[in-house]
Amino acid sequence: MKWPLSKKMETSLLACAIHKGEKLTNYCTDHNHLCCSKCVELNHRRCLQVTPLPLAATGKSTDFKNLSVSTENALSQLKYYETYQKDRMKSLKVSYKEHESLIVDGLRLEIMSFLLQCETSTVNRTHEHMQYTVIDMREKIKYLLADFEKSTIKEKKEELNLKQAPLKVVTNSCIRLHYELFHLHVAIPKVLDKPELSFIASTKCLENIQQSDIFIKENFSNKVFTVNGKSVHNVKMPSDSFTCDILAVCALPNGQVLVADRFNVKVKLLNQLYRVVSHLDVKQKQLGMCLITPSEVAVAGHDEVQFITVSHSQLAKGRKLKLQYRCCGIAHHQGDLYICSPTALYKFTLSGKLVCRLFEDTSADYTVWKCAVSPTGDRLYISSWYKHKLLTLARDGTLLATYTDPALLSPHGLHVTPAGQVLVCGWLSSTVLQVGWEGQSKLATLATMEDGVRWPRSVCYSSTTSSIIVGQWEDDTILVFRVE
Ligand SMILES: [Zn+2]
Ligand SMILES: [Zn+2]
Repeated sequence: MKWPLSKKMETSLLACAIHKGEKLTNYCTDHNHLCCSKCVELNHRRCLQVTPLPLAATGKSTDFKNLSVSTENALSQLKYYETYQKDRMKSLKVSYKEHESLIVDGLRLEIMSFLLQCETSTVNRTHEHMQYTVIDMREKIKYLLADFEKSTIKEKKEELNLKQAPLKVVTNSCIRLHYELFHLHVAIPKVLDKPELSFIASTKCLENIQQSDIFIKENFSNKVFTVNGKSVHNVKMPSDSFTCDILAVCALPNGQVLVADRFNVKVKLLNQLYRVVSHLDVKQKQLGMCLITPSEVAVAGHDEVQFITVSHSQLAKGRKLKLQYRCCGIAHHQGDLYICSPTALYKFTLSGKLVCRLFEDTSADYTVWKCAVSPTGDRLYISSWYKHKLLTLARDGTLLATYTDPALLSPHGLHVTPAGQVLVCGWLSSTVLQVGWEGQSKLATLATMEDGVRWPRSVCYSSTTSSIIVGQWEDDTILVFRVE
């Protein structure tokens, strides 16, 4: 960082982003755009304020501290999404490999049964006859293998490549945007005493941040789900005394699912086929649940948070936090615990130390019912049950947006996917919606009463199974929607 600005860096700063080999000469105030002579000629001839760069840069001051914060934020977001995308490609490859080994196993069985068949039919026959059969066998096996190699494996490989191609494009864009922005980030401190260069660098930097924002929004956070299948699964246990009330759902990365059943005061573990395989009785009527690690969840109920670990398809109670507040919703992001206490949102550390109160609305009961955090931690979402609202807060608790919709009455369960997509269910309206990451508009109605949704309580997305799981009130079943 302390090295002076290199000639190469200066050249790249002065280069037009659109026209290769052209040097920046002007600044168009109408478009907020740095222009080369070609830019001016082609796109800004009618603009009123196109000023030569040295003139445009004089007297302009940039808040570099602020710029540096937003640059670092954008860089970390790009890094997050790059990793996310790479993980998706990896899991695609793993599932393909698993598929391949299934095919190989199937083939092995086929050959074995064929050989067995030959053996049985050739027993007690003469040697001469057997010769023919062996030749037959060899031919048949050769044919089987060739067929296998030609069609099945190749087909699967092509399918994988086809599925990976768009993921690769997006990953590369992440890498490119990160690279460009990082270079500007490094260049800025070196040009602070050169007004023209620092004006160019800061303008380019702001442009890149904006571009990354739009890129992430379009490719990740506001990518709309489409539902293409549904299944219903019973989660009632013989020992349950009441109809279920699934107030929280958590999907584990291994495809298992945890549900919190409020009426029966149990946390249940479902296997990959959504069958109950283990459960724990919890003292308090649990109300909220969130993932802490791939094999640990935190369950919030009444005035405590109970940690539960999952191993070998069994649940075990871990440590417990006693709180001075009633807790209903709970969310976790990199060591921060967010707890909804019906009319306020508090931030705690994982060890139970109160950090601060982030938000409060005492104008009604249950104004802060459930919460969820965006993957980069810069946005918090709250379902305000009694106010029929979905609230979006900044990291520091500032209210950024309020969403209301006749299709979202008594919002309950909330979930943010690893890509940043926001899911919310309306208890009274019997709906599951996808809302834009800004928390200002609806992107899709994913399910309604017509799809079997009735009094939904909780919602969760599993990227392992590409499905949205919905838990309901006074209902023994959960709904699983397959999505793309
Ligand atoms: Zn240009
Ligand atoms: Zn212009």
